Amino acid sequence: MKAARMHEYGKALVLEDVQVPGIQPDEILVQVKAGGMCRSDVQLVDGYFRPYANIPTPITPGHEITGVVYKIGGGVHKSAGFQEGDHVVVAPGWGDGTCRHCLVGDTHICPNVRWPGFGPYGGFAEFLPVPARYLIKVDSRLKFEELAPLTDAGMTPYRGLKKLRDAGALGPDRVIGVFGIGGLGGYAVQYAKILGGGATVIAFARNPDKLAIAKEYGADHVINIKGMASADIANELRKATGQGELDAIIDCAGAPEMVQLAFSLLSISGHYVDVGLVGDRIDIPLFPRVSREQTFHGSFWGSNIDLTEVMALAAKGKIRHTLKIFEFDQINEYLELLRAGDIVGRAVMKF
Ligand SMILES: [Zn+2]
Repeated sequence: MKAARMHEYGKALVLEDVQVPGIQPDEILVQVKAGGMCRSDVQLVDGYFRPYANIPTPITPGHEITGVVYKIGGGVHKSAGFQEGDHVVVAPGWGDGTCRHCLVGDTHICPNVRWPGFGPYGGFAEFLPVPARYLIKVDSRLKFEELAPLTDAGMTPYRGLKKLRDAGALGPDRVIGVFGIGGLGGYAVQYAKILGGGATVIAFARNPDKLAIAKEYGADHVINIKGMASADIANELRKATGQGELDAIIDCAGAPEMVQLAFSLLSISGHYVDVGLVGDRIDIPLFPRVSREQTFHGSFWGSNIDLTEVMALAAKGKIRHTLKIFEFDQINEYLELLRAGDIVGRAVMKF
């Protein structure tokens, strides 16, 4: 099969022919139909995750995966309901199924988790083996190129928004800011409208094309922060909403200067959720966080339950996409475009 594999950190992926992987009894062999490309694929190549998990090579990147059931392991119970040819999406966090996080469904934060695309098997290959319990069947009328990004870009902000909602940070008298309108932010704006309970949604970014997408997807106001001081941004926010602070923030970038700006705009008892990983450190004043009783939420990727909910929204036609479709042979070219920040929306490789 064709596979794009990383043999060395910091080098281009090698496009090669390798053996189709075998499967364990509890696994299903998935024939990949589309694979989304994420900034974390670039970061994986660049070694961003190495201090936390030094994954041995060769690695097959690509963790936004959808395809069809090609072969079913002998131990997969009939009640799982899979048949060859079923359309599926791959849930990202393959936990051990036994720890307390797995037992409440948060398999993606299991201490023994495996992630597709961060090891020998990933979405930038024609086939990969997946434990059957981490596949979700989907309506065959849905397009593969739209399903792929929903397993990360279109699910990660969904989980983040649920955290803000469950913390009581959203509602008709609240203002939520979406920071960074890249692969995740376009979806975050839509989920802020769906889960926000009537909250006013403001998008913040530097690129006018990306802000136009936010507007199209329902942001009540957009603010271009390029070259603007925090006080001027607060003024613009006040003009737009009547208040100069944000009750809730979802940060889809996580760039150091964006984090500092966002926290400077966070209200008393405000909630901030970060789902972006552009930076690797946050440096923000402590006293205002404590005295104003603000909450920082880490929110990572998503669970089977989050993905199932996102699939339900997709099946109802409630999610819109901005996609850039490319072919297998263009994988390295698109990694470079993504590194340069030149992709508007999500890049998706289609077989
Ligand atoms: Zn576990």
